[in-house]
Amino acid sequence: MANGKFISKLLRLVGLRVCEVWFKERLRELHLHVKPHKNGAQCPQCKRRGRIVRTLPEARIWRDVPVCGWAVFFHYFPREIACPTHGRAQELIPWAEGYARVSHRLELLVLTYAQLMTHKAVAKLLHLPVSTFSDILHRTITLCRDGHRIRALRSLGIDEVSYRKGQKYLTVVYDLERACVVWVGKGKARETIERFFNEQLSDYQKKRIEWACCDMSETFIGAIKEHCPNAELVLDRFHIAKALNEALDEVRKSNRRIHRAWVLKDELNQFWDYTAHWRARDFLKQWTTTALKSRLQPLCKFALTIRKHTDNILTFIDSRLTNAVSEGLSRIIRMVKNRASGFRTVQAFVDLIYLTIGDVDIPAQIPNRFRTL
Ligand SMILES: [Zn+2]
Repeated sequence: MANGKFISKLLRLVGLRVCEVWFKERLRELHLHVKPHKNGAQCPQCKRRGRIVRTLPEARIWRDVPVCGWAVFFHYFPREIACPTHGRAQELIPWAEGYARVSHRLELLVLTYAQLMTHKAVAKLLHLPVSTFSDILHRTITLCRDGHRIRALRSLGIDEVSYRKGQKYLTVVYDLERACVVWVGKGKARETIERFFNEQLSDYQKKRIEWACCDMSETFIGAIKEHCPNAELVLDRFHIAKALNEALDEVRKSNRRIHRAWVLKDELNQFWDYTAHWRARDFLKQWTTTALKSRLQPLCKFALTIRKHTDNILTFIDSRLTNAVSEGLSRIIRMVKNRASGFRTVQAFVDLIYLTIGDVDIPAQIPNRFRTL
């Protein structure tokens, strides 16, 4: 028993007792037979003591934080109890979530590491199969986001992110004031963004939105105009620069007259320094005229788009909103994408976006008493 106490202290096991210890040397595993500290068993739903009906015939096994290269496992025979309110149920397991096969503190560690490094690195460091790692991530993040509601959204940003070599897209919605992601949906079509507006925001919340920022795609602009009656639409510097770069890439492919295109690009940069509305408008008019005269097809198309959206681009001059924020957020998402490379499903990518820049601090959702790390 002294052995058990020592191990318990070494591994900082709180709220449970170690009854038996054995090693599987070849597999580098340390196994502990454990029991909850307190007598009696609690109902997982109401936390009240219930009458113990029976001990389940099979031990359950939980994976814990590895120590010095040993993977650590808990073994325990859970008991079935009869709760006066909830009937027969398996007792509350203090070191893990209901049906989880890993301890709370391993979960916390997985989440913390996943914010910093690649899936592969986390799995290796914690002696986990990659699939277990993805499962933990998904389960915890779904749990934390379940019933989560968006709060106090005043500056909205909508963007699309590609995954799998530009074939498929996610629509990402930002809170630009708090610089975080509030929602991610699959696809970039109108119905995706409709789902966000219909399922996530009440009419009151939609009316409260003051600024909305997106690229020049009709999909997003149309949805914003329909759902946010009081929002000023801002087409920001970051997205316009992105569209222009795409146009330049097109020009580069045809290879001639490239110089003229670059001069035009440099000139457009001046626009962002204007502070007077009317000057900015004049400038944009002149610039688009020159661009149209260039007879470079992609640039003409870009210039026409700019003309069409002039009013919403000029709102940037007044609001100075979002530029750095949306650019910064999309940079983080690109980083997350690289980090999640080799993810099996798009869901793993979505999970990581929520974990890294979501509007809830997900590791903070794990109960305090499991933070003995
Ligand atoms: Zn109960």
